[in-house]
Amino acid sequence: MQQQQPHRFVMLGPPGSGKGTHAVQLAERLSVPHISTGALLRDEIAAQTELGRQVGDAVQSGGLVTDEAIVQMVERKIRSADADVGWILDGAPRTLRQAVLLAPLIEGSDPAIVIALDVDNDELRRRLGRRRTDEQRADDDPDVVERRLALWDEIGPRLLDRYEQRGVLHRVDGSGDIEETSSRVRAAVDAAVGRDSSI
Ligand code: ADP
Repeated sequence: MQQQQPHRFVMLGPPGSGKGTHAVQLAERLSVPHISTGALLRDEIAAQTELGRQVGDAVQSGGLVTDEAIVQMVERKIRSADADVGWILDGAPRTLRQAVLLAPLIEGSDPAIVIALDVDNDELRRRLGRRRTDEQRADDDPDVVERRLALWDEIGPRLLDRYEQRGVLHRVDGSGDIEETSSRVRAAVDAAVGRDSSI
């Protein structure tokens, strides 16, 4: 596959919607780096860095890490990515303020494409329950899951509105299995970049 222009994508969706899974697949397909705020934070926590110590409680209790910490981390990663290649951002922005602070990188004259996965809360609860058994993430504890779902319900629609108004939002039904959702994400991406999805 020939790289013609940088691919810049933001993957949005509630916890358990499959953002990480589909962002990784897309990153592999387009040969661009995958920048996951959740994974970066978990690495910082595991390595017990200063940032890791600062954010540990927020991540484990399903709260949000400060906008400053997130924006700094994302900016550093995006700036170190090859501008001719691009990136896929997964996990940010998660607040309107993050969207504003990251706007110079995400919006502007050549805005990134925003893919939002739609999955209803009952399905999200089922998936996060299964993930708790498989991956043993402290933040997949049922009470913590409710907090994370409530946070998304409060903020997510406003984030989606912002990108819809800018004409860069592509909503994808994420309620099916991984394969179904993959082909929907792929079709949305190809439509957005004007490419034939059979290639
Ligand atoms: P999920 O999307 O399933 O909630 P993530 O791996 O994206 O999982 O994030 C895990 C946790 O990391 C979040 O619950 C939150 O505590 C923290 N986090 C990740 N991204 C952000 C962000 N952009 N702003 C604030 N906190 C974040």
